[in-house]
Amino acid sequence: MLCFTAHPDDESGGFGGTLLRCADRGVETHVVCLTPGQAATHRGGARSDEELAAIRRQEFAASGRLLKISHGTILEYPDGKLDRLDFYGVVGDLTQRVREIRPHVIATIGPEGGVTAHTDHSMVSIFATMAFHWASRSNRYVEQLQNGLTVHQAQKLYYASALFTLSDRQPISLPPPTTTIELEPHELETKIAAFKCHTSQAPLFPYFEATMRKRGRFELYHLAASATLHRAQPEIDLFAGIKE
Ligand SMILES: [Zn+2]
Repeated sequence: MLCFTAHPDDESGGFGGTLLRCADRGVETHVVCLTPGQAATHRGGARSDEELAAIRRQEFAASGRLLKISHGTILEYPDGKLDRLDFYGVVGDLTQRVREIRPHVIATIGPEGGVTAHTDHSMVSIFATMAFHWASRSNRYVEQLQNGLTVHQAQKLYYASALFTLSDRQPISLPPPTTTIELEPHELETKIAAFKCHTSQAPLFPYFEATMRKRGRFELYHLAASATLHRAQPEIDLFAGIKE
């Protein structure tokens, strides 16, 4: 499984229970996070963007250990500015990673930007969506295919979704859930603990934990694309129908 996120803490806050469940089932899990989160409001005592980025890389690694993430990578894109980047270049970067990692399943945030509607969340969604589709095409980023790398068709693309919105925000339009992951109590606890590894973001902890305890029993996903033709059906497993 390959999960594309925008900021350190998205992996735990958005996908934590699912990543842990996959790892416990023996699935190799990769998280590629596009920014080191250097523009965060909460600075954790950092005196510069560089210092905050370094702190958040360590926090991401700690969170990844709790969630048993096989390979976690933070890229160097600018936090808060993913909508200002060269589209073709970023999609090419992510396409290459899909061709290298060769996941069966790709998950990312929805184009609305998740319940926070952060523009970086929207952009990682759009970049990852095109990487999912274009990684399998021999006429996209042809220059990548000259050194032994080959095209790769991931079998499913999922957007994280929710059945609640944040009351103090502008309205958002979430993708309707097709897939419901009901977390075991220990999975929810580990998800909360992984989020709390992001110590620089400690002011967010009380709200996050209260929201998770109230509404966090389920992680919901929308099946956004499938390599096989079929009608969307309710699922309880991102790997339902996946072929080895
Ligand atoms: Zn985020």
